[in-house]
Amino acid sequence: MTTNEAWFDRALAVIPGGVDSPVRSFASVGGRPFTVASGSGSTLTDVEGREYLDYVQSYGASLLGHADPRVVAAITRAALKGSTFGAPTPGEVLLAERLCELVAGLEQVRFVSSGTEAVMSAIRVARGFTGRDQIVKFDGCYHGHSDAVLVAGGSGIAQLGLPGSAGVPVGAVADTLVAPYNLVPELSDSVAAVIVEPFAANMNLVLPVPGFLEGLRAECDRVGALLIFDEVISGFRLHLGGAEAVASVTPDLWTFGKVIGGGLPIGAFGGRQDVLSCLAPNGPVYQAGTLSGNPLATAAGLTVLDNVTEESLADLCDRVARFGASLQEALRAGGLGATVAVAGPLLGLYVAAENPELPSNYDEAKAICSNGYYPKLFHAMLERGVAMAPGAYEVLFPSFAHSHDDFATTVDRAFSAAEAVVAQS
Ligand SMILES: *Cc1c(COP(=O)(O)O)cnc(C)c1O
Repeated sequence: MTTNEAWFDRALAVIPGGVDSPVRSFASVGGRPFTVASGSGSTLTDVEGREYLDYVQSYGASLLGHADPRVVAAITRAALKGSTFGAPTPGEVLLAERLCELVAGLEQVRFVSSGTEAVMSAIRVARGFTGRDQIVKFDGCYHGHSDAVLVAGGSGIAQLGLPGSAGVPVGAVADTLVAPYNLVPELSDSVAAVIVEPFAANMNLVLPVPGFLEGLRAECDRVGALLIFDEVISGFRLHLGGAEAVASVTPDLWTFGKVIGGGLPIGAFGGRQDVLSCLAPNGPVYQAGTLSGNPLATAAGLTVLDNVTEESLADLCDRVARFGASLQEALRAGGLGATVAVAGPLLGLYVAAENPELPSNYDEAKAICSNGYYPKLFHAMLERGVAMAPGAYEVLFPSFAHSHDDFATTVDRAFSAAEAVVAQS
């Protein structure tokens, strides 16, 4: 049998750091990642045959759980008809229609192959449409790894403690202004767009305070800037209508990813028709992609959305809220300070010596996430067969495949893991 050690040694030789995305490395928690052989529903199996209850779910791309039979069948049917053509296909039309039906105010979308591309393209549209250059983002929000937004990002950048990234020229971020989350900045009329994660899920989980999103809407309107909701995580997860349906604020542009590809590479950006009419071939803003609107990805995404209803999603949110409360209770009973944040079916787990207060911005999140407790809990949970993300700034992504028993098992293991962490400290 080839071991995790052996696979990762081979990976290290031919892939920088052994990973294709830095969040997968164990750099911020210590140790080396296991190599996944397969996944099914709520579980993963590594190459040594060890099973884990998985709360990463490809960072939220698998809302129905791994290898959902309906999604597998849809991908198979699509693959048999050819996987990419460089020409229009029905799948992209059907998925675009579905997204526009579900999200109020979303009139048109264009598909790309990742969330990063979706954000890059939405920003280009905003700049092209307004004729302005500046964009405003918030400290701790992650919007993919394109140059313009790779400052003060959460997620892997937060984990690795990088200020931004080497290789990004100063000029590329000269027009990016960074503001603290949950405070409405005063904008000038040079601002093309304000981009925000309406529920911030890349600096652990930080919820918008009442008035924040409404304030952004009003401030954008005051200066004629566009408001972009980056819903690559929140879209079709917090609610089928997106964050707007929860927060009652409508942006001008949306970006989506993760859920809408059913585990295959996809992204989408969209908004009102009058804004998107600036895109080529209709207008002067160029944007393109060989694999955009890929038939396998659109088939998988449609199948996910076909199998999620408002009722089933509300039920998942209820189950996850109860699970979050039990998890918090178990960690505390085990002697660890713990507070769990909830947004839809997303959980943010904060651990410390004493029960932490929920943070409202990146500085507060960082103070908790860098206290050294998460890496210990992460390893204690992993030893007990529960896989969380190898970084304190990621959220837990329970899926539809997580059963009541899975949650109960996780809570039991969390109690014992907390005791082990406390014993070590
Ligand atoms: C994951 C993520 C992205 C980037 O998506 P990729 O598909 O990884 O390029 C952008 N924005 C948010 C909010 C994300 O969580």
